[in-house]
Amino acid sequence: MKERKVPAWVSAPLVLGAAGLLAWLERRRPLRRAVEPKPRREARNLAVAAVGAVALGVTEKPLAEALTSLVGRRRWGLLKVLRLPAWVEVALAVVLLDYTLYLWHVLTHRVPFLWRFHLVHHVDLDLDASTALRFHFAELVVSAPFRAAQILVIGVSPLAFSVWQTLLMLSILFHHSNARLPAELERRLNRLVVTPRMHGIHHSGVKEETDSNWSSGLTVWDWLHGTLRLDVPQSEITIGVPAYRDARELGLAEILRMPFAEERPAWQLPGEDFKAVNHRDTEARL
Ligand SMILES: [Zn+2]
Repeated sequence: MKERKVPAWVSAPLVLGAAGLLAWLERRRPLRRAVEPKPRREARNLAVAAVGAVALGVTEKPLAEALTSLVGRRRWGLLKVLRLPAWVEVALAVVLLDYTLYLWHVLTHRVPFLWRFHLVHHVDLDLDASTALRFHFAELVVSAPFRAAQILVIGVSPLAFSVWQTLLMLSILFHHSNARLPAELERRLNRLVVTPRMHGIHHSGVKEETDSNWSSGLTVWDWLHGTLRLDVPQSEITIGVPAYRDARELGLAEILRMPFAEERPAWQLPGEDFKAVNHRDTEARL
């Protein structure tokens, strides 16, 4: 039986169109000043993404296909037990996948073994739509069992999974982008979804700012957990991780090796033995 999914002729133009529009906006109206030359960074991030796509193709993709199909046939998981109308089930699955991804994102920061891999995403010295695709292949591999658990516990059908994947891709391209939207528009948008200024705070080199804004789609999860922060102006943010600020150490080979190399105390500037960059010295202002 052919399973219903979002067809590639719908998702591919949507994602490519969004990426193209954001790339155009980033060049016309950048939000933050770039540290590294953009073409070099984009090429590096796309190379990391290509390796990641291969890793996904041999781990998460076959696993998710098998499990979503099993969930559909055997009616496993929370949503299948409830026997909801199809569209309600898809909508709830997307919301619950979004929430559990929030929890996973917190774990990638809190669990040292996972942070080793997620660090590669955070050491980018600039933040733009290409950063959205820059995940170390090993992070994608170690997240596959969590994805399997999400599908089985929530009861995610192939259609719901493909809807979520498409929306998630659009969302992460958008909120990692370096596009300067009118502040008022962004204020309205981030009552509902994660926006570029909001996610910029999560990529700050100040630890207490990175420890906020973990949502990947809906903002409500940060709001419910008290981890929402909107009070740091982008002009005051240094993107990246303090211990990894030398661009010469952040080439493609170096970042692919990073999770397997000796780890540095991430929030400490090199050469500074005592002062961890946990707080801003200046008073927080709106
Ligand atoms: Zn993160």
